[in-house]
Amino acid sequence: MPELPEVENVALALRAHLTGRKLTGLKVLYSGILGQSVAATRKALLDRTLDGVHRHGKYIIINFSHGQRPDSHLMIHLRMTGQIFILDDYIPDKHVHLTFDFDGLPVHYRDIRKFGRLELVDDAIHPSAIAHVGPDMLEVRFKAWHESISYRRAPMKALLLDQGIAAGLGNIYVDESLFLAGVHPLAKPQDLSEKELYEVWSVAKRVLRNSIKHGGTTFMDFKNFHGKPGNFRRKLRVYGRAGEDCAVCGCEIEGLRVAGRSSCFCPECQVL
Ligand SMILES: [Zn+2]
Repeated sequence: MPELPEVENVALALRAHLTGRKLTGLKVLYSGILGQSVAATRKALLDRTLDGVHRHGKYIIINFSHGQRPDSHLMIHLRMTGQIFILDDYIPDKHVHLTFDFDGLPVHYRDIRKFGRLELVDDAIHPSAIAHVGPDMLEVRFKAWHESISYRRAPMKALLLDQGIAAGLGNIYVDESLFLAGVHPLAKPQDLSEKELYEVWSVAKRVLRNSIKHGGTTFMDFKNFHGKPGNFRRKLRVYGRAGEDCAVCGCEIEGLRVAGRSSCFCPECQVL
């Protein structure tokens, strides 16, 4: 599933390649991915110029402007297997459900499991459709983050995955952050000192920024904007490595289910 770094890379690519371009065509092959009718989507977006791309957690919000009329905002959530890309010589396969035509530049939305959504929203930065989503993990201050988790009785793994507390972290980056902070996935906020919680918060931001720099992680069928896989996978320390040796202490990395999700951790480096 694409997490914050993958989504950030898609947002960066959209911004770099499409800012200032007018949407001249929109072909919808499967309307189930739209949050509204095809007609409403076309009416809101066609003949408008893309002039801004904002990311919040795993959501991308694209701003389209038109001289006199008010701006339109399209929010994209890739969910499990959504991909957005431009490839000059690409012949769309059956999983491409929508193609934007930006004045001759085709941009494809491909989604094998069809869980992704493209919906018109009421604001370019804080749409009401995601009012339940917490602040972006890269932007949330320690004080606010600490206040929202300190009274919770759930394991850290579950709290870091909770998008209502902070948005953007998923299974991969939670496992990596807990490992680097030396915190067991089942530890509760009450088990940790403020200093240890600060470490988790700052390590999580560092892991996300590092992954963005490396183009995200390759997993399932996520590919970045140009169809190339990200490079972060070889940097993962524990995620997907149960049964392998910990690179720090040599102990065997273990697997565990927390909050319904598989978790990988080192029993020596992350003592409960
Ligand atoms: Zn270890």
